[in-house]
Amino acid sequence: MGLIRGERFEYESNVDGAAADWAVRVVTVDPTGVRSESVLHRASGQLEVEQIIDGHVARASSPLVRVAGSLWSRDLTFADGSRIECWIILEVSDWRCLDCGIDLRHVDEYYMVRDDLWNSAVVEFDRHRHLCIGCLESRLGRELTNADFRPGTEHLTRRATPRLRDRLGRAAPPDRRSAPPAGVDDGGYVVRYFPSTESR
Ligand SMILES: [Zn+2]
Repeated sequence: MGLIRGERFEYESNVDGAAADWAVRVVTVDPTGVRSESVLHRASGQLEVEQIIDGHVARASSPLVRVAGSLWSRDLTFADGSRIECWIILEVSDWRCLDCGIDLRHVDEYYMVRDDLWNSAVVEFDRHRHLCIGCLESRLGRELTNADFRPGTEHLTRRATPRLRDRLGRAAPPDRRSAPPAGVDDGGYVVRYFPSTESR
């Protein structure tokens, strides 16, 4: 298990529900400027990404004279004027529930709750992540009602499990029926999933 730190996230690789998939997209440019089709090379990690790029250098028919790039790109220029452009790709997916860790990738439900509710339950650093409905309710200390879901997202709950159908059809008590403060609901909503096997 490796821990990779980025500016906005931190995740474990090679565990159920989380994956960090590396790849390199390569385009060769001949001395006259004609570009090849791009080729995608999958890699197991950053080391293999560098090995793939090194392999292109080793197979080139002309000596390498210049390397330019960044963390996510490499532009190789050879003595004969040909070039190789490399784009380094890292795709991160992590569909685990923040609390119980269940893998939420195999979902058949989809729902959104109001931002003010989500923000009250989840610290800022974790707001792009996911909670199963049971763990969200545990954090809130109560069960959800129809007033907690974002209006206009009913199409997302077409395949709702019994647990979600129950919450969607449950009227809020009078003290929670009032609209949230102006402006609170204007932003984008965070998407949460929970799997049908978690129905309660
Ligand atoms: Zn959970």
